[in-house]
Amino acid sequence: MSDEKRILVTGGAGFIGSAVTREIIRSTPHRVLVVDKLTYAGCLESLEPVANDARYGFKRADIVDGDVMRALFDEFSPDVVMHLAAESHVDRSIDGPGEFIRTNVVGTFSLLQAALGYWRGLPQARRDSFRFHHISTDEVFGSLGPEGFFSETTAYQPTSPYSASKAASDHLVMAWRHTYGLPTVLSNCSNNYGPYHFPEKLIPLMILNALEGRKLPVYGAGANVRDWLYVEDHARALLSVATRGRVGESYCIGGHNEKSNLEVVRGVCALVDELAPDPALAPRENLIEFVSDRPGHDLRYAIDPGKIGDDLGWRPRETFESGLRRTVEWYLSNRGWWERIRSRVYGGERLGVI
Ligand code: NAD
Repeated sequence: MSDEKRILVTGGAGFIGSAVTREIIRSTPHRVLVVDKLTYAGCLESLEPVANDARYGFKRADIVDGDVMRALFDEFSPDVVMHLAAESHVDRSIDGPGEFIRTNVVGTFSLLQAALGYWRGLPQARRDSFRFHHISTDEVFGSLGPEGFFSETTAYQPTSPYSASKAASDHLVMAWRHTYGLPTVLSNCSNNYGPYHFPEKLIPLMILNALEGRKLPVYGAGANVRDWLYVEDHARALLSVATRGRVGESYCIGGHNEKSNLEVVRGVCALVDELAPDPALAPRENLIEFVSDRPGHDLRYAIDPGKIGDDLGWRPRETFESGLRRTVEWYLSNRGWWERIRSRVYGGERLGVI
C-alpha cells in the first residue's frame, strides 16, 4: 500500500477528533473523512483550518446507524478507522446515562459490525494492513490512591456511567479482535486540555469564568488529581498508535503532569491575571468557590506512558506550564469560537448533581 492512507475519523468535530484531523492534514499525506453527528459537543468551526483542503471530507451521521456506517465504509474505503465519537462528559453521564450507553456502547458495536463486514470484503493485502483504533480513557481503570500509575496491565474498574460505557466499548473492541480477527488497537489517555475544548470541562470553564469575573467552582476540596496532556501531543500519539501500533495491543498515553484541580485552577487564574489584566478582578484566585463534590469523584489518575515511548518513540512536547499558557492565549485570541457556544449551547451552569 502507498504511504497515503485513507483515515475515517469518528467524532472528528469534537475536541480531540478535530485536533487529530488538523494534525493529519498538517503533517501527513493522508486523506481523512470525518464522521460526526454534531451533538452539542460537535463544532464544525473547529475544523475550519482544514475545511478547504482537498484531502479532507465531512459527513454528518450517527455511529449508531449501522447501515449508514456500512455505506460510508464502502464509499470511502478506509485503511484506518480512528474511533473517537462518544459522549464524553462525566457530569452529563450522571444526569443522563442513557445517551452514553447509546453512543458509547451501542454506537461502538454498530461501528465494529460495519467495519467487520467491510474488512471481510477487502483483498488480503488491505485486510492485513487495516486498523480499527478505538480511542479510550484512563478512567476505565477507576481511581488510584496516592501512589502508583495505570499501565496496559491495570485491571478495569470503572466507577462512573461515562467510564463504565467506555470500558464496555473497550471490551467490545477487544472481543471483535479476539473472536473475528478484526485488526484493532486501543489507547487509553489521561485528561486532555488545549484549544477548541468545549467549555463544560474544567480548564476552559475556569478560563472563561475568570475572564468574565464569574465564580470558579471547585469540586470538594480541589484535591482530586489528574494527569494532564496537551491535546496536540495526544493527537500525535494517536496517529502513531493508529498507523504503527501492534494489532491487539493497547497503549496508555500520558505526560507525567499530575496536578490537583486546585493547582490547575490557581494556574489558570495566574495566567489570566497576566494575559488579560483587570485591576477590578485581580487576583482572580479570589473568585474560587468550593462547591459540593461530584458524586463518586475518583481521587487520582496517573499514567505510566513507558510502552508508547519505548515501542513507538512518542514523547509529549509540552509541559503543563507551556501547554496551559498556550491554551489561555488561544482562548483570548479566539473569542468567536467560544462566545457562540457560551451564549447559545452551554452557559456554564453546574451539571451532575444528584
Ligand atoms: P467531545 O465530546 O469533544 O467530542 C465528541 C464528538 O463525538 C463530538 O463531535 C460529537 O458530535 C460526536 N458524537 C457524539 N455522539 C455521536 C454519535 N452518536 N455519532 C457520531 N458522532 C457523535 O469528546 P473529546 O474530548 O474530543 O473525546 C474524544 C474521545 O476521546 C472520546 O471517545 C473520549 O472518551 C476519549 N477521551 C477523551 C479524553 C479527554 O480528556 N477529553 C481523554 C481520554 C479519552
